Amino acid sequence: MLALHPSGVIPALATIVLGLALLVPAIVIFLLSVREGYDEAERRDRRANGRCLGCGYRLKGNVTGICPECGMEIGSPKISPIDRADARN
Ligand SMILES: [Zn+2]
Repeated sequence: MLALHPSGVIPALATIVLGLALLVPAIVIFLLSVREGYDEAERRDRRANGRCLGCGYRLKGNVTGICPECGMEIGSPKISPIDRADARN
């Protein structure tokens, strides 16, 4: 049991501070996890539909290897050879 005060009872302010100290990082971690999940779902969707992973521009028929919208190199590590082949079809 936490006993921060001589009376054996945690003062209300200390309880609130302790609660916030635990709650705020938990909320930040949760929000970062949600954002990462959203980003991964978007990358998966773009990859599946032959779109640029950087901006979502449709790359079908692109033979330059560079996204004309954002300039991202299609052959960058973020795009697999399969995606490059799909983009050329
Ligand atoms: Zn792009």
